[in-house]
Amino acid sequence: MPIHEKSLIRPENLKTHEHLVIDGVDVSGHWSTFIETRVVSDYNEALEEEIAALPGGEHIHRCWQCGSCTNSCTVNEINADFNPRYWIYLIRVGMESELLRDKDIIWQCVSCNKCTYACPRDVFPEGVMKATAHWLERKGHTPKSPSMHFDEVFTEQIIKTGKIEESRTVRRFFKRTKQGLAQPWMIEMVKRLIKHLPVGMLTRMGLATLVAPKTSDWSRASAAMQEYIEEQHEKQEEALTLAQLVEVAQEDAAA
Ligand code: SF4
Ligand code: SF4
Repeated sequence: MPIHEKSLIRPENLKTHEHLVIDGVDVSGHWSTFIETRVVSDYNEALEEEIAALPGGEHIHRCWQCGSCTNSCTVNEINADFNPRYWIYLIRVGMESELLRDKDIIWQCVSCNKCTYACPRDVFPEGVMKATAHWLERKGHTPKSPSMHFDEVFTEQIIKTGKIEESRTVRRFFKRTKQGLAQPWMIEMVKRLIKHLPVGMLTRMGLATLVAPKTSDWSRASAAMQEYIEEQHEKQEEALTLAQLVEVAQEDAAA
C-alpha cells in the first residue's frame, strides 16, 4: 500500500459535507472528508522498464516505499512537492500522466546523494532522479536541460582528446546553451584566477583551449568508448519504444 501524503491529494478531489448523518451518527464537517474516487485508464505499463533502462534507474524495482529518500532530501526540505519516493511509486505503477504533472521540478535534484545513503534497499534514488530527468528529455516532455548539455560537451571532449580542459568545456557549454561568456561571476572568477594562479599554469591553460592536446595513443580507447556508448544508446532506445508498442497493442485489443 503506498503512502499518500495529504499534500499529494488535489484539493478538488477532497469532499467534505457540511451536514451529514450516517446511521444516526453526525459526521458533518471535517469528519466526513473523503477522497473522490477516480478511474485511471492511461497507465504506461512499460514505464518502470523505460526508466530502469537509463543509467541510474537500474534498481528502481527494489523500492519498498519507506520514504527515507524524501525525508532526507535536500530539495524536499525547501520544496515539499519535490518527492522522490512518490515519483518512484508513480513510475513503478505506470502512472505516467501523474508523473508528468511534476515534470518541471524533477530536474531540480542537486545530486547531493543524501537519499542514496538513507535508502535501505540500495535503490540509488539519486540515479533514479537522473534517469527520470533524462527520460523526460528523451521522450520530448521537457527541453534538454543545461546539465544534459554539459554532460554531452564533457563526454564529446573526453572521447575526442582523452583529456578534460575546463576552459574549453565551459566555453563550449556556454556556446551550446546560448549564453554569453561575459557574465559577472565569470569575469570575477577569471580575475581571481589571473591573480592567484602561476603564470606558467595560466599559459598552459590558454594554449590547451586553443590547440586541444590529445592523450597519446588515444584512438583505440576512444573507439571502444564510442562503441560502448552507441551500444547502450541502442538498448535504451529499444526500451523507450517498448511503451509505444504496448500502447498500440492495447489500442488494437480495445478496438
Ligand atoms: S540526490 Fe537529489 S533526490 Fe537525493 S537527496 Fe539529494 S536532491 Fe534529493
Ligand atoms: S529510501 Fe529507498 S526504499 Fe525507501 S522509498 Fe526511497 S527509494 Fe524506496
